[in-house]
Amino acid sequence: MEQLKRRFVEGCSARSEEITTLLGSLQSHGDEAALRSLHGAMHKLGGSAGLFGFHKTGAIARDCERRIEEALKQGSVSVPASLPALVDELQEAIRQEVAVVGSVPVSPEGEERTRRAVIISERPGAMTEALSRELVAAGLLPEVVAVGSALEACRRAEVALIDVAAGGDGYALCRSIAEAPQAPPIRILYTDGNTTFDLIRASPSRASKFIYRASDVRGALKRQEQPGEVAATARILSVEDDPDCGRVIEESLRSVGHTVKVIPSPTLLLEELARFRPELLLLDWDLPDVNGYDLARIIRSDARHERMPIVFCTSRSERYDRRAASRAGADDFVAKPFTPEELIEAVDTHLTRYRALRRRMDHDALTDLLNRAASVAAIDDLLAGARERGTGVLVAIVDLDHFKSVNDDFGHPTGDRVLREMAAHLRSSLRAFDVAGRLGGEEFVIAMEGPALGPLAQKLDDTRESVSIRVERPGGPSRGITFSAGIAWFPEHGTQAPELLKQADLALYRAKAAGRNQIVIA
Ligand code: GH3
Ligand code: MG
Ligand code: MG
Ligand code: MG
Repeated sequence: MEQLKRRFVEGCSARSEEITTLLGSLQSHGDEAALRSLHGAMHKLGGSAGLFGFHKTGAIARDCERRIEEALKQGSVSVPASLPALVDELQEAIRQEVAVVGSVPVSPEGEERTRRAVIISERPGAMTEALSRELVAAGLLPEVVAVGSALEACRRAEVALIDVAAGGDGYALCRSIAEAPQAPPIRILYTDGNTTFDLIRASPSRASKFIYRASDVRGALKRQEQPGEVAATARILSVEDDPDCGRVIEESLRSVGHTVKVIPSPTLLLEELARFRPELLLLDWDLPDVNGYDLARIIRSDARHERMPIVFCTSRSERYDRRAASRAGADDFVAKPFTPEELIEAVDTHLTRYRALRRRMDHDALTDLLNRAASVAAIDDLLAGARERGTGVLVAIVDLDHFKSVNDDFGHPTGDRVLREMAAHLRSSLRAFDVAGRLGGEEFVIAMEGPALGPLAQKLDDTRESVSIRVERPGGPSRGITFSAGIAWFPEHGTQAPELLKQADLALYRAKAAGRNQIVIA
């Protein structure tokens, strides 16, 4: 973030000059194209200035943007009368806010490496000392400060710990710290253990965590560092035409482990969706030549993207109709300027929900293996990877032997138990990236990628040999369960999932005909 901000600060005088030049040429002769360029320049400046905490600059730029927009709407091609004075104000704000930061090194090497933590308390003592020790152990440099100097001390700190009683209202203090420029990304409210938190006041405080004991600091910091399994692996695609904003999106989401791709225009969006296969899409609401409603509708009209969360990023000045946008398929809005934490949080919320939903839709309820449709999709993925790596893929259909008589002789619930146990046996014999699914009834599918068929087929045969599922009735004879399997090999027996499944099925038929409890290769 610091680097991005520095880049913005360094580029700001060029932006400011561009605005002066555009304004100058517009004042000498009206020109719609120039007015639109000025509008675009203000839009971008407004967005990114706010993003980096230059609120005054951002607000004036957005005001300029609004006035130009009104002029354009009325068909005017010349400068609105109020604009030159406002641009002067803007230049002054840039000098006051942005240039000042540029004149001091934003963050020299050494300082960047010192991770600072601030403890805000009016009663230093055992608790603040214990908190300090925890922070040092976590590799942070703690400093205990009073409420009066809290905001200043918190600038560029990584963590702020706020005594809930500090200043009489720690909740409100926490909120103002969260909203101050260069706010600490982690804000922890603490009590001395004798008072409980007031949940009504806690919710708008923007605290990341509430703790009762000094030792809770460890957990509070860890959760921030490892946002969990959900966040760690998602692919996120962002369409954003402002390069500064695009970089912030990329950096902040990457910092918590996501794989991020930012494209500047929606022209190639459908291709990127197919190629990159994101699990979440971040869309700039206001893009050249297209608006958010139309984009969402186009994306949703493709069955493959029906369920993917779409989160829009919108400037506060951009007017949109939330309900119309939801009807078009938008899941959420993040208002620009947003902080990295706000973005990360919005993304994680939707990813978690999306993954829970996907899990239910992709998995078979009885065995928890992939269902038929999800199995075929997973095999397609394996095939695509194998094509790239020049390897092969074994596709097997596994069918239980004489399963109908298990149901007939031992009852349907026993049959269900056998199916669950067989699913667990198959899954446990496979590697994490192998595919195991239930095609339906007592038929399963397995797919494994590898350099040669022989060892993989042998592995499946070992799995067959090691089945130890038995059914019995009290007093009656017990019976062991076996399966037969037909195997097809990519690329030899087919190049697409349906073809390979068909070949595997024919081979399975031969395994049954040859006496069952065996595997046959196509
Ligand atoms: P083969 O060795 O030739 O495969 O014989 P089979 O009896 O296994 O094959 P068949 O296709 O005749 O019978 C499959 C049986 O699987 C029929 C059906 O009652 C049973 N079945 C399908 N789905 C379920 C299920 O979800 N639970 C239980 N308990 N049985 C199921
Ligand atoms: Mg934009
Ligand atoms: Mg069967
Ligand atoms: Mg069958």
